[in-house]
Amino acid sequence: MSEEQGQSRRTFLTTAAAVVTGAIAADVFGAATTPAAGTSGTTGSVTATPPPASGPHKVPPLPYDYDALEPHIDKLTMQLHHDKHHAAYVSKLNDAIAPYPELAQKSAEELIKSLNELPEAIRTAVRNNGGGHVNHTMFWEIMTPGGPGNPSGELAEAVKGAFNSFDELKTKFNDAGVKRFGSGWVWLIRNKDGKLEIISTANQDSPLMDGQQPILGNDVWEHAYYLKYQNRRPEYLAAWWKVLNWDKVAERFKKQG
Ligand code: MN
Repeated sequence: MSEEQGQSRRTFLTTAAAVVTGAIAADVFGAATTPAAGTSGTTGSVTATPPPASGPHKVPPLPYDYDALEPHIDKLTMQLHHDKHHAAYVSKLNDAIAPYPELAQKSAEELIKSLNELPEAIRTAVRNNGGGHVNHTMFWEIMTPGGPGNPSGELAEAVKGAFNSFDELKTKFNDAGVKRFGSGWVWLIRNKDGKLEIISTANQDSPLMDGQQPILGNDVWEHAYYLKYQNRRPEYLAAWWKVLNWDKVAERFKKQG
């Protein structure tokens, strides 16, 4: 099959998948001139393959299928969130640092931890898009289908020490997520005193920008939940705990300890 035929076949498959998925999907994918990478298939076992980024930063592949977190997070939201939103942050981060070859060696975490050392012309772009890249990379990693439901071991002890109970942590976290006005994130962090604390940040700001360690975070931008939950952010926040990967969260907690 020639490259051109391959391209047209992919376009057809993507369009066909969109028609099957329904009107919303048709709106999103059917009108696109190029097919979304990672959506080339009509079966339920679509493999998550991010589009190649030009530059040092890449979108990491999802560690599970787009539909793996159903019914709590729907497949189309995952496709758009990963392949479009996250990919856009990565591509804009690459664009921002392109004129400064010396920055190509730095990880996205390093870049956002020392925003003030960056050329002023790209500071805001790196804050927004580097933050978006780091935050979403964590987000995919700390979710899993059928997670264990609650923390264990040292992390469970630390949660008990800081919040009395895991239920109390969830209540406070969800409350902070509901109260975040507009777009942003809600976090469980280890603060500068080494204590667990719940905070929220605006836009794509990361606790790393303020010298704090994000242990886990939930995305409360509307793009994370609107297709399924519409304006019901509290419902999304409550459901999200069911897909949390506590093994990964425990790893993050240990590493940063
Ligand atoms: Mn997001």
